[in-house]
Amino acid sequence: MATKKLDWGNLPFGYMETSKSYVANWKNGEWDEGKLTSDHTIKINECAGVLQYAQTCFEGLKAYTTEHGDIVTFRPDLNAERMENSCKRLEMPVFPKERFIEAVLQTIEANKDWVPPYGSGATLYIRPYMFGSSAVIGVKPADEYQFRILVTPVGPYFKGGVKPIKVRLSDLDRAAPHGTGDIKAGLNYAMSLHNIVDAHNNGYAENMYLDPATHTYLEETGGANILFITKDGKLVTPKSDSILPSITRRSLVIVAKEYLKMEVEERKINKDELADFVECGLCGTAAVISPVGEIDDHGKQIIYNEGKQEMGPKLKEIYDTLTGIQMGRLPAPEGWVYTIN
Ligand SMILES: *Cc1c(COP(=O)(O)O)cnc(C)c1O
Repeated sequence: MATKKLDWGNLPFGYMETSKSYVANWKNGEWDEGKLTSDHTIKINECAGVLQYAQTCFEGLKAYTTEHGDIVTFRPDLNAERMENSCKRLEMPVFPKERFIEAVLQTIEANKDWVPPYGSGATLYIRPYMFGSSAVIGVKPADEYQFRILVTPVGPYFKGGVKPIKVRLSDLDRAAPHGTGDIKAGLNYAMSLHNIVDAHNNGYAENMYLDPATHTYLEETGGANILFITKDGKLVTPKSDSILPSITRRSLVIVAKEYLKMEVEERKINKDELADFVECGLCGTAAVISPVGEIDDHGKQIIYNEGKQEMGPKLKEIYDTLTGIQMGRLPAPEGWVYTIN
């Protein structure tokens, strides 16, 4: 298969129809065998559970071309496990882990010519998701579900170099105490949309959320976990039951400890500590790390990395190490990288 002739370096972070999607259906208490499809539309009942009561969850991961020309993906087993937790919390059937991994690999394989070349900065974004597909009018879980995987090539997250972003501490919440903040549910995003539009209208790239019970401790942004670097070079990241367990964050923590011999603290972080840190970044699959240059706490500005227009040195080191592992330039820990044949 020849790689598609696209302007990889200038692709947006957007959807584009590719060759195949994966689809499996849950009916009468079991999953069917599942298959690849070139039908990129879905026909469901007007009263489907997903449409009425938002019974849906998703995952996000990527495929890359390594320095050696292999097509690989990163820790899909953790996406399978996280989706299992999301499904259980939303009373949806679990798509078994081994099948999830197999379906991801199969979908990448079927779209090999859409995987951007090494060095382009672009990647193939993979979106597994599930939704209640049968009609529901009384409030209850649907009886039938669809599990799908779509893929779409996405451009480099930072076009024309990394620019630190400006964020604000939010007065609204993304999750309730003991709610659904720790699962990847569509509903968590629906309710963040108003706040993100408002943030953008006011010149901020993201909202930084505080713990919903007391508004004292830092949680995460709408779609990324938070990292800080202390003056003495420690990596500090918030611990909370209502943040989404980012696979990127969990991987960066291991990279910092094992590869870079950094000290790492995963703990509650009071918002009064913000000014004590020297670097701040957001982490997730999309950008790996995006540097935060400024946090606005209700008119009080906190500046990181001395206001320089680049990622701070410690976060850069962690970023370079993880992306080095993903792109095959550095040896990966056992089981992190899956190669597609
Ligand atoms: C997906 C997501 C993240 C990032 O998780 P990764 O596994 O690193 O991509 C962080 N926060 C929220 C709310 C998310 O939905």
